[in-house]
Amino acid sequence: PVEVKRRKIAVLGARSVGKSSLVKQFVEKQFIDSYYPTIERAYVKNISYKGNEYVLEIFDTAGQDEFSPLKAQYAIGIHGYVLVYSIASTDSFEMVQILRDKILDYCGVTDIPCVIVGAKSDLHSSRQVQLSELEKLAEANNAACVETSAKDDVNVGRVFQLCVQEIERRLSSNQTA
Ligand code: GDP
Repeated sequence: PVEVKRRKIAVLGARSVGKSSLVKQFVEKQFIDSYYPTIERAYVKNISYKGNEYVLEIFDTAGQDEFSPLKAQYAIGIHGYVLVYSIASTDSFEMVQILRDKILDYCGVTDIPCVIVGAKSDLHSSRQVQLSELEKLAEANNAACVETSAKDDVNVGRVFQLCVQEIERRLSSNQTA
């Protein structure tokens, strides 16, 4: 029998950076160009990664700021994180480090599987954050990174492949899989 692996992924980031659009594009293959502030929602999507089948449970969140306490459901039992900012917002980029630090603090660990996502990569003329800054942040945090556009469907699947990659490389090094 084929073993199906279940992985829980939380999508966090500042408000309106494109978290829901990213998840909706990935799960439902659609982009809606109007802004509805997200009610927290869970999605399920099956993917294959390195010949294994995975069931991803993806938690789309309402959006965080530096003052919002991390909710327990986004820390306990979560295997991997997708931390999203908008390439058109330096403030949202700075939230990524704040969020990662909050997660580490909450979980009492020094490392978490995570992918840092520069969303809305189609907004060329409003760009405030360079790709090189993203790469630097990712390296400093032992994270994977990618720029995406949910609107143009660029690198959307890649986000979740990378997240599973980050989860699996830690599991295999701990041999607790
Ligand atoms: P969330 O609050 O982080 O979940 O953000 P949403 O997914 O609701 O997106 C906020 C706004 O940004 C909406 O008006 C979206 O249409 C828009 N948006 C989301 N993703 C993209 C993208 O890839 N490109 C562009 N140009 N706009 C986007």
